[in-house]
Amino acid sequence: MKALWTLNPYFWRYKWLLLSGILFVLLSAAFSVFPAVYIREAFDEVAVAISGRANADAQRSLALRDALILYSALILGLSVLKGIFTFLMRQTLIVMSRHIEYDLKNAIYSHYQKLDMGFYRRNSTGDLMNRISEDVSRTRMYIGPALMYTINTAFATGLTLTFMFSVDVKLSLMTLAPMPILVWCIYRVSTLINQRSHAVQSQQSAISTLAQETFSGVRVLKAFGLEAEQTERYAESANKSFHQNEKLFRVNALFMPLMLLLVGASTLIAVWVGGQGVIEGRLSPGVTAEFIYYVNLLTWPIASIGWVMSMVQRAEASMQRINDFLHVKPMVESPAKAYTPKTILGEIVFEGVSYTYPDSGIVALKEFSATLSPGETVVIVGKTGSGKSTIGLLLNRVMDPTEGRITVDGVDIRDWDVTTLRRAIGTVPQDAFLFSDSIAENIAFGTLDATRDTVEAYAEFAHVAEDVRGFPKGFDTVVGERGVTLSGGQKQRVSIARALIKEPPMLILDDALSAVDTDTEVSILSGLKSKLQGMTALLITQRLSCVHLADRIYVLDEGALVQEGKHTDLLRQQGIYAELYLLQNPDTQIA
Ligand code: ADP
Ligand code: MG
Repeated sequence: MKALWTLNPYFWRYKWLLLSGILFVLLSAAFSVFPAVYIREAFDEVAVAISGRANADAQRSLALRDALILYSALILGLSVLKGIFTFLMRQTLIVMSRHIEYDLKNAIYSHYQKLDMGFYRRNSTGDLMNRISEDVSRTRMYIGPALMYTINTAFATGLTLTFMFSVDVKLSLMTLAPMPILVWCIYRVSTLINQRSHAVQSQQSAISTLAQETFSGVRVLKAFGLEAEQTERYAESANKSFHQNEKLFRVNALFMPLMLLLVGASTLIAVWVGGQGVIEGRLSPGVTAEFIYYVNLLTWPIASIGWVMSMVQRAEASMQRINDFLHVKPMVESPAKAYTPKTILGEIVFEGVSYTYPDSGIVALKEFSATLSPGETVVIVGKTGSGKSTIGLLLNRVMDPTEGRITVDGVDIRDWDVTTLRRAIGTVPQDAFLFSDSIAENIAFGTLDATRDTVEAYAEFAHVAEDVRGFPKGFDTVVGERGVTLSGGQKQRVSIARALIKEPPMLILDDALSAVDTDTEVSILSGLKSKLQGMTALLITQRLSCVHLADRIYVLDEGALVQEGKHTDLLRQQGIYAELYLLQNPDTQIA
């Protein structure tokens, strides 16, 4: 039960809804029990009238009619009150549970946003989605219905039993005898129902995953001509789901008859034993009717015990899973007194920075040192896996160096406010990702107030405007799942416009033009240099077409800095750089 204690602060937040909800539960339970007494009295009145029919006079039957009208009115009135309070009970407790569900979802979502990339690598998207949807719904079942039924059961049962025992102890004990069996059976059946619906659900998500992969991988699927096989797999999966559903419905079908059987047994006992009491003259005839009413009154609360127990167990497991995520501490956080400067110059210094990936133990960067003065353009080259992207990630504080430090404007980036730092760096990652939105929205993503003119100007600048204007809806063309598919190079250029539009003091381009032809790459980068003066740029690349734009070039090999300097100097040295350059430009004559 420990995990569910996490919810107490939420209950506290909605204490007024909770308290008034509890009050309404009590009132609605009470008003459902009270009519019993009037049912007995009405029956007794009739019985007396029948037995005295021999010497009945007009006055007596008139009194009977008045009495019956009175009791009917009372019973009706109490039922109406019960109805009103049941309505109010749902309006408070279920509304409270919806509020808490909403808060919980927001809490989980905003916690997700704080977590580092490592967390996202360790957990699948499906898991993340499940926590925030399914697990929260199950937890809500505890907050709302389970709580409501528990209070209702406890109070209604207590009150009914008090009423029953005050009328007749023997009759009460006899009538209640089948109830424990009812509770036990329902608990067993609802546990079975839960287990089987769990199986149904996981099969359901297996089917969804299969379908989703089919749709997103449809090109590969068709290219390999595997449609028939995939259909076969789907049918198999669906068949399994069908059988599991069948099993679930079998137990479900058992539930109602079982309950009715036991209610029937209790009613039978009430009539039998009650009837004997009447014959013996111990009980009045109305008591039998009263007890039949009690039996019916007890059925639902007692049936709900088993149901509530399994609901609470499920909520507990879900809350535990939610807590496991909520308790993950983000690896990268702003310090308490974070550095949030008004103006940022963009001086970047790497001081003996090393980084080892914790999951794989790969040493991606070894004691890397470099100084970038404000406004400088620096190129980092190296083969695949030499640690180039790692440098960009470290500067963005996606993770922190294992050793050494990085400063921006003389302040260790771990002392910076993370958001301020990241907003000051325009980043174009290796794999450009665009949101399923219009191209204009995608470009304006990092800014709040970009006009259409600005958007177009930056698109122009990234040499993508012409392509975009060729689309049916121009800048309003929606990209992604339900829109047009951009080519790799177009995506990269949109992504560059998106990074530049916020005019950041620092820029990281990580292989950001790998899918763009060399001429366009060079003209984009030369434009960049002239237009955005004062911006410190870190260009990560495998292709050496832009190296003459660089103030300095750093050459990495297996995480280590092996060469640094200007293009012409590096070319003269016998090293990796000259090797790479000659490989890409075989006609070069080295002076
Ligand atoms: P580059 O950008 O030069 O191709 P990276 O910086 O991406 O190189 O990678 C450097 C090394 O770190 C490679 O050996 C790569 O396999 C490893 N690496 C990169 N990302 C991760 C990661 N998330 N987990 C574990 N190892 C990684
Ligand atoms: Mg890379």
